[in-house]
Amino acid sequence: MEKHTGGCHCTKVRYEVELDLTRPVLDCNCSHCAIKGLLLAFVPESQFTLLSGADDLETYKFSKGHISHMACKSCGVQPFGKGMGKDGPMVAINVRTLDDVDLKSLTYNEFNGKDL
Ligand SMILES: [Zn+2]
Repeated sequence: MEKHTGGCHCTKVRYEVELDLTRPVLDCNCSHCAIKGLLLAFVPESQFTLLSGADDLETYKFSKGHISHMACKSCGVQPFGKGMGKDGPMVAINVRTLDDVDLKSLTYNEFNGKDL
């Protein structure tokens, strides 16, 4: 699996993740994903490393609060979220915040989160 780096706009928050970008990315239409433009790829927490910015993150939760959406306090960009999957802790990477991603080359799994 390939290693990728990414982070927020002001670069205070930086991360590294092992991610297979040949797999479909979640394009969800719920109120939260839609307003932030989130495109999410889910990985086990063991494949994710926060390189910098632990103190620059703030957490946003809504609805049932199952996912901690982590955004940079300075620039407001959300690089990732954290939650519990059925196999353990998961990280939801906002693929828009990867350094080296070509969004047009990805495949998308459209998810109707709006009607959940
Ligand atoms: Zn930032």
